[in-house]
Amino acid sequence: MRCHKLVAYSVSAAAMVTLVAAGDAWEIKSQNKLVKHCANREGYDVCNIVLDISDTHALCSVCRLNRTIPDLAKPENRLRWSKLEQAKRRLLIGLMDLHLPLEAPVRGYSRGLCFDFLEDQRSNSDVAQKFITTGHRDGVITINILEADDVQRVWQREHVGERYRTLLGHMRHEVGHYYFELIVSDREGFGQIFGDVDTAYEKALKNYYARGPLPGWEQSHISAYASAHPAEDWAECFAHYLHMADTLETATAHRLIEQFSEQGDFEQLLLLWDRFSASLNEVNRSLGLSDAYPFVITPIVKNKLRFIHSAIARYVGLQL
Ligand SMILES: [Zn+2]
Ligand SMILES: [Zn+2]
Repeated sequence: MRCHKLVAYSVSAAAMVTLVAAGDAWEIKSQNKLVKHCANREGYDVCNIVLDISDTHALCSVCRLNRTIPDLAKPENRLRWSKLEQAKRRLLIGLMDLHLPLEAPVRGYSRGLCFDFLEDQRSNSDVAQKFITTGHRDGVITINILEADDVQRVWQREHVGERYRTLLGHMRHEVGHYYFELIVSDREGFGQIFGDVDTAYEKALKNYYARGPLPGWEQSHISAYASAHPAEDWAECFAHYLHMADTLETATAHRLIEQFSEQGDFEQLLLLWDRFSASLNEVNRSLGLSDAYPFVITPIVKNKLRFIHSAIARYVGLQL
C-alpha cells in the first residue's frame, strides 16, 4: 500500500514475490525470472498467482482445480467467487505445508481434488437444482456459493445453532473426507477412537437432524455435528487440525509465537494451540468481537486429533 509495487504469489518459490514490468511479461527481480499472470487475475482479479513465462497453461495450478465456477454474467457472483477463491487458497497452502497430495492418482480415486462452486434455485431461478448441499464425493468438493454471502451464512449458522461457520471451515471439513480414504490405513485403530465408520450413514444423518446431537457431545466431540456419524467426526476433527496447524504457522511467521513445525511433536503442538487460541479469544474480546476459536478440546477430542497427526505423519513419511 505504500510502495505501490505489484506483488504476486509464486507456487514454485512458495512465497509472495515483487514484480517489475519486463516488456509484455513480468519479472521476479530476486530470481531473474520472467513470469505471466494467471488468466483469472487478468480477467477477473480473483487470482494472485504467477506462472512461468514458458508455461503453456493460461490458468495457474490452483485455478485449474476448479471444475465449475459460478455464472459470471451475474455481477453478485463475482464477489462470491472471489471469496471462495480466497478460502480455497488458504486451504491449499495449508495442505501443501503438510505435504498432503492434491493430485491423483491416489488410492481409491481416479482423480485428485477439484472444486464445484454451484448455485441452486435459492440464488438462481434458472438452474435445475432446487437445493445444493456442500459436500465431498470422489475428490470433488462441492460448495453452495450462497455460503459466500455473509448474511446467508450467519443466518444459517444461527438457524442450526453452530458456533462457527466459514467458507474455509467448510472446505477443510470436506477435504477431511477426501484424505480419510488416503491416509487412514489403520481402520481398527480408527474404530477404537472414532467409532465404526461403516455405521449406516444415511440413517445416522437422518437421526441427527430429527433428534439433534448426542446428549453430552461436548465431552466426546469437537462440535455437535461431529456426533452425527464417525465419518463426520473425523472430518470435523480434520478441519480443526488444519485450523490449528495453519494458524500456528501464521503466528510463527509473524513472530507471535517462538517456533512451530507441522512435523513436530503433537503434545507440543497442542500446548502451543491451547495458549495461543486463548490469547486470540482474549484479543477478539478486547475488540468487541466473538471468540475466534469457540471450541474446547477435551481429552477425548485430543486423542482424536493425535490420531490425525499420526496418520498424516505416517502417510507423508511413506511418500517422501
Ligand atoms: Zn490462478
Ligand atoms: Zn462431512
